[in-house]
Amino acid sequence: MPFEIVTIPCLADNYAYLLHDPETAETALVDAPEAGPIGKVLARRGWKLDHILITHHHPDHVDAVEELRKATGARVWGAACDAHRLPPLDEALREGDGVVIGSQSGRVIDVPGHTLGHIAFHFPESRAVFTADSLMALGCGRLFEGTAEQMWNSLSKLAALPPETLVCSGHEYTEANARFALTVEPESPALQARAEEVLAKRARGQPTVPSRLSEELATNPFLRADEPAVRACLGMEDAPAAAVFAEIRRRKDTF
Ligand code: ZN
Ligand code: FE
Repeated sequence: MPFEIVTIPCLADNYAYLLHDPETAETALVDAPEAGPIGKVLARRGWKLDHILITHHHPDHVDAVEELRKATGARVWGAACDAHRLPPLDEALREGDGVVIGSQSGRVIDVPGHTLGHIAFHFPESRAVFTADSLMALGCGRLFEGTAEQMWNSLSKLAALPPETLVCSGHEYTEANARFALTVEPESPALQARAEEVLAKRARGQPTVPSRLSEELATNPFLRADEPAVRACLGMEDAPAAAVFAEIRRRKDTF
């Protein structure tokens, strides 16, 4: 049985996620931007927090780890290679490692680019991947530490997951991402339709995440660097995909 997944808005534009296994009642949190909103959802649902999964070391993803650990006794999981700059880990993870939450086993995917130690968590039985600031709805994270090549490689791993996978990302940046995406592929009907949907959701104050990997593959310019349509729009027909990705990322940085 898939996890029950709850999206929790935190801080100005962050998202945390609670995963609840209906079979064992075990509950995990992905990222801990702020204890208040997360504690409220746990209390309202009557869930006890057992695990905290950390995607990367940025304060807006880890600031509430210690408070929640103290309050709940949850075990903390994060990337082994970033252990020196993460809260103390109970479980240090490497690519391919299993993350067992209740009756389900997830898998760790290294997704360097935004930071060097950024990881994603894929839970195939729940058809969900937790990507934080790597793959985002209609976007991807800024390259603070890694190279464009590294991020392109990371996004390519995520793009290879089953298309029905839910992409649970870390921020509500989708409206600005949609405006930018339309400058890359202005004539794409799929993108135009999605941009409209995003604007309507935001106007109603609704989150635009999670999204489906299939819609990201169809509309997210950062995943589409290898598509002839995108290459043509940028005049980069013969460039390597990573170079096309780098150009899209460069344009977004100054958009
Ligand atoms: Zn970040
Ligand atoms: Fe972030």
